[in-house]
Amino acid sequence: MRSFTFDASTGRVVFGAGAIDYLPSEVERLGASRALVLSTPQQARIASDLSMRLGERRVGIHPHAVMHVPIEVARTAIEEAGRLGADCVIAAGGGSTIGLAKAIALQSALPILAVPTTYAGSEMTPIYGLTEEGLKKTGRDARVLPKTVIYDPCLTLDLPLKMSITSGFNAIAHAAEALYADNANPISKLMAEEGIRALVRGLPGLREDPQDLNSRSHCLYGAWLCGAVLGMSNMALHHKLCHVLGGTWNLPRAEIHTVILPHVLAYNAAAVPDAMERIERAMGTPNAVSAIVALMQRLGTPMSLEELGMKRADLVRAALLVMELPYHNPRPVTYEGVLALVEDALMGRVDCS
Ligand code: NAD
Repeated sequence: MRSFTFDASTGRVVFGAGAIDYLPSEVERLGASRALVLSTPQQARIASDLSMRLGERRVGIHPHAVMHVPIEVARTAIEEAGRLGADCVIAAGGGSTIGLAKAIALQSALPILAVPTTYAGSEMTPIYGLTEEGLKKTGRDARVLPKTVIYDPCLTLDLPLKMSITSGFNAIAHAAEALYADNANPISKLMAEEGIRALVRGLPGLREDPQDLNSRSHCLYGAWLCGAVLGMSNMALHHKLCHVLGGTWNLPRAEIHTVILPHVLAYNAAAVPDAMERIERAMGTPNAVSAIVALMQRLGTPMSLEELGMKRADLVRAALLVMELPYHNPRPVTYEGVLALVEDALMGRVDCS
């Protein structure tokens, strides 16, 4: 066995249907008594519910999180936390809300208690992002990693089906890429494989009944593991492509991850047989790429970049941008290779051989 380093940098997790009941005691456990609850405007009701549960341990609600953490939105939230004398921030929502909490923590070192309601996984990573003048900058800082995460599948029951499914594929993509990361290790691979297994088990059940708590539980458990491995693994071609396509053409994020996933797996397959074997084991099928495509078809996800609004005329620029600052990737990344990949992704044409 090769030597490895395992950095278990995730916080405390409280998981289960009804786990949100522990919110007051978990805030107390952090030594906090003045919690500021964050959400998006659309999820203000959850923020208000959590705030009610906190009783005297709350100082306010700030339901103003938006996608990609614009710097002005972050500054307002930081000022609000300071004005109210908050000693902890509670992020109730998806990656946008958790991203805003991270911006506050980065500046003030306040502890974050995250209550995720999507499968994006930001709550498990020390990665933050801030958008200034249309440019998103990301970084890593231990201060932004939530100290506590409460995963309550009951709070995900209202996540719309389409969003749930693409969010689930987004999580699978985190794990797939972690399986062949240059810093992968036996533990991160175990977690990634189990994360994929849990999502592949949960997602079809959501298609049948989005309110099914058991399926929701599997998905959220999978999302936790996939988020955790995202936080501990170096990203490769898949994430690079998604950052370029999302950042430059403002395509919907979870949908891009979904559409791109089988293409990058096909691109890398021959170079990473162990990763493919783990995906196949997790999915219970002999061909990882065709299994992913079949699952996408079964769950009715978008299949092509064209469906997301990408134009053929944009492909050359996309390939050039990927080549500008390529991430490590197990198969060498070439301009011709990336161009062929995005051409196939545009049309939803996957090489499953
Ligand atoms: P999101 O947080 O933007 O949420 C999308 C929409 O869904 C919002 O309107 C939100 O209010 C709503 N929503 C969330 N949960 C809901 C629920 N249970 N029921 C009904 N509506 C709900 O989406 P996201 O995909 O979770 O996060 C995307 C953002 O997170 C991006 O900016 C991305 O870059 C970031 N992200 C960061 C990391 C990291 O490690 N830093 C990891 C993953 C994603």
